[in-house]
Amino acid sequence: MLTGEPSAFWLVVSVIQTFVLIPGLVYFFGKGAYCGWICSCGALAETLGDDYRTLAPHGERAKRWEHLGQGVLLVIFVLTLGWGLTHWTPAGSWFRTATFGGLSLPVAVEHLRHWYELVIDVGFAGTISLGVYFFYSGRIWCRYGCPLAALMHIYARFTRYRIFADKPKCISCNICTRVCHMGIDVMGYASQGRPMDDVECVRCAACVTSCPMDVLSFGMTGKEHPHDPASRLYQLRRGASVPGSAVTGSQL
Ligand code: SF4
Ligand code: SF4
Repeated sequence: MLTGEPSAFWLVVSVIQTFVLIPGLVYFFGKGAYCGWICSCGALAETLGDDYRTLAPHGERAKRWEHLGQGVLLVIFVLTLGWGLTHWTPAGSWFRTATFGGLSLPVAVEHLRHWYELVIDVGFAGTISLGVYFFYSGRIWCRYGCPLAALMHIYARFTRYRIFADKPKCISCNICTRVCHMGIDVMGYASQGRPMDDVECVRCAACVTSCPMDVLSFGMTGKEHPHDPASRLYQLRRGASVPGSAVTGSQL
């Protein structure tokens, strides 16, 4: 809830959490470190919606709609900035006296806040997202509406966390894609041996544990994971000569 007189303690905590702790978590463990281990919305989604995870929308159109979260993030960014400028600048400053659409700027920001709470908080997060648990899986809010997830998608561009695949063992059964409630085509990555780097992944591990061939595993790039195509170990196992190494694939 936005307030004109926030507690300094919680202001500092929220800034450190948003811009230091969460980016660090996402960098080392992927976005799922927050969405899967900490977030209460995620806990509710995994508890109530888990039985319906195979109903999650898949495909290109469903993936395109995920950009909606960036729109919600933009709105909350504008709202927070507007709220700060209309409450924390000196009385008589431009931000307190300017008008917008016939309303003073502070009143316009107040209207925007009410609409945000009604449409996004109550309508989308609180009502629609819970209602569709049983038709489209539990993670609809996480995929399409959550502004914190949208921010973490930016952080996740820099993470080294991946799901690696032992490609030769994959039988293209599609089970991993089917159980993914974030609509990720896990099989598409696995069958090509590509490390799965989709920022939507909440690290629920359903794909890893459901795979009948034990193909998938969590890991990080740069850590010599045996199924990371960029690792020296992977290349040596496939018989390629690796610059700077005296060992050849045939010796492994
Ligand atoms: S569940 Fe395993 S074997 Fe089946 S497609 Fe996915 S990675 Fe391949
Ligand atoms: S099923 Fe796999 S790819 Fe999908 S969210 Fe869970 S861990 Fe990530």
